[in-house]
Amino acid sequence: MIKENYETVCEKIREACKRAGRDESEVTLISVSKTKPMEDIAEAYEAGARDFGENKVQELVKKHDEGGLLDAKWHMIGHLQRNKVKDVVGRAVLIHSVDSFRLAEEINIQGKKKGVTVPVLIELNVAEEESKFGVSLSDAEDLISQISENLSNVSVKGLMTVAPYVVDSEQNREIFHKIKDLSVDIAAKNYDNVSMDILSMGMTGDYEVAIEEGSTMVRVGTGIFGERNYKI
Ligand SMILES: *Cc1c(COP(=O)(O)O)cnc(C)c1O
Repeated sequence: MIKENYETVCEKIREACKRAGRDESEVTLISVSKTKPMEDIAEAYEAGARDFGENKVQELVKKHDEGGLLDAKWHMIGHLQRNKVKDVVGRAVLIHSVDSFRLAEEINIQGKKKGVTVPVLIELNVAEEESKFGVSLSDAEDLISQISENLSNVSVKGLMTVAPYVVDSEQNREIFHKIKDLSVDIAAKNYDNVSMDILSMGMTGDYEVAIEEGSTMVRVGTGIFGERNYKI
């Protein structure tokens, strides 16, 4: 089932790209494997998945170190605590969830220690009443300019958002559009060590609309692996 789901999602991504006049190579599918066992992940891997998203550091570390998928790329998509940054730097290819200067500072420290520049996205809070994480659209540029000026081992690659859960994905179109506009504005400022190449937006319920509005990374969990059981 996972293989078929994965292929269906890939096909829908291709169709959304076509509708938007975009090349399908512009969009990366991240299979969100949080809570799922390695045998499920291996099935998606067999179907062609290479990018996986996790939202808990401990789980990401375990799957990265012991999962046996050597060319898999692990994305940290969940809220990150400063004391866990050291475990993520060097393991995650991209941290999607930077939402404060203090967190970015810690990432910078760990990047320096390991001799790497750490690619990150700035998480935007567009559903202010529903999610406690992320910076507001109006504060994002300020945070980005602070990081650019002060943290040479952190490289901002773009923006990320978790849009509200909606029944009709059209309801999120305007949010995605606004974020794309913001990314264009910020890119035009040419901050050092900042690009706006990545827009991580769109989940199972709304990834097609997100692609039509410019997303370059969609994070799909349920649509590939089925419902999650948080009780295990
Ligand atoms: C769980 C999660 C997803 C995937 O959600 P689905 O609706 O299952 O596709 C995407 N992004 C983040 C940040 C998540 O935590």
